[in-house]
Amino acid sequence: MTDVTLVTGAGGFIGGHLVKDLLARGEAVRAVDIKPEAEWHQVFAGAENRRADLREPGACAEAVAGVGRVYNLASDMGGMGFIESHKAACMLSVLINTHLLQASVAADVERFFFGSSACVYAAEHQTSPDVIPLREEDAYPAMPEDGYGWEKLFSERMCRHFTEDFGLETRVARYHNVYGPHGTFEGGREKAPAAICRKVAEAELLDRPEIEIWGDGKQTRSFTYIDDCVHGTLAIMDSDLSEPVNLGSATLVTIDDLVSIVEEIAGITLERRYKTDAPTGVRGRNSDNTKLRDAIGWEPNTTLRDGLEVTYRWVRDQVRARPAVALS
Ligand code: NAD
Repeated sequence: MTDVTLVTGAGGFIGGHLVKDLLARGEAVRAVDIKPEAEWHQVFAGAENRRADLREPGACAEAVAGVGRVYNLASDMGGMGFIESHKAACMLSVLINTHLLQASVAADVERFFFGSSACVYAAEHQTSPDVIPLREEDAYPAMPEDGYGWEKLFSERMCRHFTEDFGLETRVARYHNVYGPHGTFEGGREKAPAAICRKVAEAELLDRPEIEIWGDGKQTRSFTYIDDCVHGTLAIMDSDLSEPVNLGSATLVTIDDLVSIVEEIAGITLERRYKTDAPTGVRGRNSDNTKLRDAIGWEPNTTLRDGLEVTYRWVRDQVRARPAVALS
């Protein structure tokens, strides 16, 4: 194995945390993102930080030069508010994974990780809030989330066939709703936990005791704390798991439950206004972790309360640090 590990999307939420943990493991890390460094969620001086558009084949070749392992976390994505209205942009992320795979084969990369999503699962398994946890095989017959989910499913298969045809070792994790500090919490790309933390923080700081909730609050999800996501990502990369595997919490809650936990952490109770015409995605979704447990003897185990406690404090600090005008 060569020494350098590449993390793409390193200026984003999961990529930033992954770089931190890889550096802590003593690895030499090349961190690449399309954004200027000033916009990265976290920047580590110990990494080799580069800016590049990885949709371009030449940029991928430069990024993988001298690299042993690739973690591909770069994609144009966001929460439901973003992916339902940017389907073409989401699908264009296929260029990133495709060109990175090609460059990795050419550069004799030892192992390649792709960050997939629970959005690959067929809609028919997710029509009830009282959902049966999704097993990996439920992704087929295919009917994933339009746009974003199709790109993820196609890219998963691309990884599989690069293994079969070119011998590149690939690992694929299907992330389920990852949340934590240093995530996107405003601007339109934020996901439910960060959005709810922000709204509760604004209500608390502005003494405005109401909250807008997307949907009727009864839709269900499981939410995965960032430390579990990074731990699982590293373990899956090191494992023999050559097929896609779920990486998500198996604790199912409603969006109303999520709001109640954040309210409790903040010590306030808010009047709830439901925006039922807002994008909400599938009705219910949970992760079946049998395959992950069998392979690595572990599954995400941070409680939602503990994870949200840290996340809420971080989001609240960001909201409080805004200029006063932006708060009102
Ligand atoms: P993020 O948006 O915070 O990070 C993605 C990063 O990719 C961004 O910093 C972005 O600038 C970068 N990027 C986009 N286009 C690029 C390009 N052409 N070249 C180089 N960099 C580019 O997202 P995240 O939450 O950290 O997610 C990381 C990966 O995990 C993504 O592939 C995402 O689809 C997947 N995923 C995340 C979640 C979640 O809940 N966060 C759930 C399922 C899957």
